[in-house]
Amino acid sequence: DSYLIPKYTFDKFIEGDCNRLGRAAGMAVANKPGLTAFNPLMIYGGVGLGKTHLIQAIGNQIKDSYPEKFVLYVSTEKFTNQFVNAIRNNSIEAFTNFYLQVDVLIIDDVQFLSGKEKTQETFFNIFNHLHQSGKQIILSSDRAPRDLAGMEDRLLSRFKWGLTADLQQPDFETRIAIIQKKLQEDGIQIDFDVLEYLAHSIQTNVRELEGVIISLMAQASLTRKEIDLELAKSTLKSIVNEQEKELSVESILDVVTNHFDVDLDTLRGKCRKKENVFPRQIAMYMLKELTNLPLKSIGYHFGGRDHSTVIHAVQAISEAMETDQSVEKTIRNLFTRFNLKGV
Ligand code: ADP
Ligand code: MG
Repeated sequence: DSYLIPKYTFDKFIEGDCNRLGRAAGMAVANKPGLTAFNPLMIYGGVGLGKTHLIQAIGNQIKDSYPEKFVLYVSTEKFTNQFVNAIRNNSIEAFTNFYLQVDVLIIDDVQFLSGKEKTQETFFNIFNHLHQSGKQIILSSDRAPRDLAGMEDRLLSRFKWGLTADLQQPDFETRIAIIQKKLQEDGIQIDFDVLEYLAHSIQTNVRELEGVIISLMAQASLTRKEIDLELAKSTLKSIVNEQEKELSVESILDVVTNHFDVDLDTLRGKCRKKENVFPRQIAMYMLKELTNLPLKSIGYHFGGRDHSTVIHAVQAISEAMETDQSVEKTIRNLFTRFNLKGV
C-alpha cells in the first residue's frame, strides 16, 4: 500500500503565481523521478496551501506512468511512530530495509522531525542510501529549511541539495479559479458576482475556501435554493460566527487546562508554583494572540490581575519560545486547535 489518495491529482491542482514553481518542478519530477536535478524536491508553505495535494499528485502521476516503481507516501508522524515501534520491537533493521526498497519516497510535514534526534539519524541514513541509488525523494514542510529549528545541520543541508519551492497564498484570480473548479466538480454554476464575493471574502488558505464552498453547497441543497449572493453572505456570516464562538475565552482556557492537566480554578488562581505559573502564562499569551481582548480584560479572567501581569506573561512566553524549542512546539500544537490563526 502506497497511501496515495487518488483524488489528489495535478489535474485538480489549480495553477497560479502562488504555486507555479512548485507545480512545474513537481511535474518534472513526476515525469522523470530520480533523473532531474530536483532531488530532493522540497515543497514548503503554510497550512492549507496545498502541500499534501501537490506531493500526492506527484506520487499518483508516477504510479500511473511507472507502475513498476514502488512509490511510498508517509507522514512524518507515521514514520516516527514506525521507528519508535521498531526500537521497541528490536526491528530497526527491518524498518530500515523496508524503506531502502522504495523507489520514490514522499515524506509529508518534515517539520515534525524537529527535536527527534534518533529518528533524524535514521532518516538521514535512509535518505543517503536512496539518493545515492538515484531514487527520488520528495519532502514537504510548513516552513523553509532555514527556519526549521531542532534539525541536524547535515540533514538540513541535504534538504537543500535539490530544489526548494514554496507555496503561497493564492491571489484573487487563482481563488476564483479554485472556487470554479470545485463547483464544477459538483456540476454547479454560480454568477460572477457571487464568485467575486467569495474570492474577496476568503483570503486565508485553500482549505478554508473549500470549507466555505462545501457549507454553501450544503445550505443550497438544504434550503432548495440557488447559490446567490444572499445565500453566500448568510452562509459566510454563520461560519464566521461559529469561528468566533469557537475562539471564546472558555474554549481557549479549556484547551490549556486539558493540555497541562490543571483545573480551571488553579489556572485562574494565585498559586505561584512553577507548574501552575507556566500554563497560566501560556493561557494569557494565547488569549492575547487569538482574541481582540484588551490586556486589562485578559487580566480580569485571571482573578483580576492587572495588565502589567499580562504583559509580563506574554514577554516570558515569547522569550521561552525563542530559547526553548519544546515550548515553541507546545504553543504551536495548542494553536493548531484553532483554525483561524496559527503561528
Ligand atoms: P497542506 O498540506 O499544505 O496543509 P492540503 O494539500 O491539504 O494543504 O490542501 C488543502 C485543501 O486545499 C485540499 O483539499 C486541496 O485539495 C486544496 N487545494 C490546495 N491547493 C489547491 C490548488 N492549487 N488547487 C486546487 N485545490 C487546492
Ligand atoms: Mg498537509
